[in-house]
Amino acid sequence: MPKARETVLEIDLNALAHNYKYLRSKVAKDVKLMAVVKAFGYGSDVVGIAKKLTELGADYLAVAYTAEGAALRKAGIELPIMVLHPQSFNFEELIENCLEPSLYSEFVLKEFIETAEKLKQKHYPAHIKFNTGLNRLGFSEAETDVVKNLLTGTTAVKAKSFFSHLAASEDWREREFTLNQIHTFKRIAIKLYEELGYRPMLHICNTSGIINYPEAAFDMVRTGIGLYGFGNEEAEDNKLKPIGTLKTIISQIHQINKGDSVGYNRAFKAEKPTKTATLPIGHADGINRQYGNRRAGVLINGQYAPIIGNVCMDMLMVDITGIDCEEGDEVIIFGGPQHATKFAEKGNTISYELITGISQRVKRRLIE
Ligand SMILES: *Cc1c(COP(=O)(O)O)cnc(C)c1O
Repeated sequence: MPKARETVLEIDLNALAHNYKYLRSKVAKDVKLMAVVKAFGYGSDVVGIAKKLTELGADYLAVAYTAEGAALRKAGIELPIMVLHPQSFNFEELIENCLEPSLYSEFVLKEFIETAEKLKQKHYPAHIKFNTGLNRLGFSEAETDVVKNLLTGTTAVKAKSFFSHLAASEDWREREFTLNQIHTFKRIAIKLYEELGYRPMLHICNTSGIINYPEAAFDMVRTGIGLYGFGNEEAEDNKLKPIGTLKTIISQIHQINKGDSVGYNRAFKAEKPTKTATLPIGHADGINRQYGNRRAGVLINGQYAPIIGNVCMDMLMVDITGIDCEEGDEVIIFGGPQHATKFAEKGNTISYELITGISQRVKRRLIE
């Protein structure tokens, strides 16, 4: 593997393939897999990821917003794509790009039907979302009649699936709550498809749902974080492979004296002669100020170097006293031996936020 010469997020497509196969193995063969690639593929490289997922045999992709789906179409991705959170003003663009909407309220369902009729669509596939406890998006159980009446009143739109989303699938203390969500979803779905006279696909599991509630896989599962190598618990983290390694280099080394300070606000003051390295990565790249002042560190030639002082916009400084290294050497921020979950904890956050927060300024490099 070539050494980093600037800040770069390396994305290991073999790790993606490993994770894909692992998650597939958790559910029955005929269960479809929807790969969630929202937010630039959880901060990786959405086109590279989507191409690899196509090759691996993913059945569906999901993005959050219409523009994300349109960008995938522009890049030549042909898999069916569900848009989790479209707005009504997006519906023409959505149909023009052969994207499939999640419809979560009476307002958006009505608006979508109106747009589909205007564009002379026939049985345009849509995914009806039910709220079973997350209280974020979705029709309530009391609204199933609204859904039935709107769907039976048109031939422009047809339900391709019914789905819901789990609130705490990774948390064993919330097992009863989760089972209740699954139960509620089943009850809503059965009532509605019996009334409609056809059975759309059903799905409720995200990554932790696949791992902890495989019996609730229904017809399809939706996995995001697991594909990128995170299992939301240590035992699962050990079976998955994080696809991303964030690397940078040493731009400059300073030898400072006792009493000297480092960085803005003089937040670090040397209590003894100290060797420091300045790295070209900062909060504008997604390493926020929470990680500063020794809360997190980086790996240089296998050795741990704590971040000192405040993280700047484009740079941060680390203490390399006693570490054998020179300007130009490669630095690992997270990935490899420094697990991103552990790094995220030091910034009081979780892997999801850390990896999706790596800004678009950081180069992505696919490796296979
Ligand atoms: C983001 C998202 C997912 C993926 O969840 P993971 O925990 O990353 O597997 C699945 N379903 C919906 C509705 C989502 O918004």
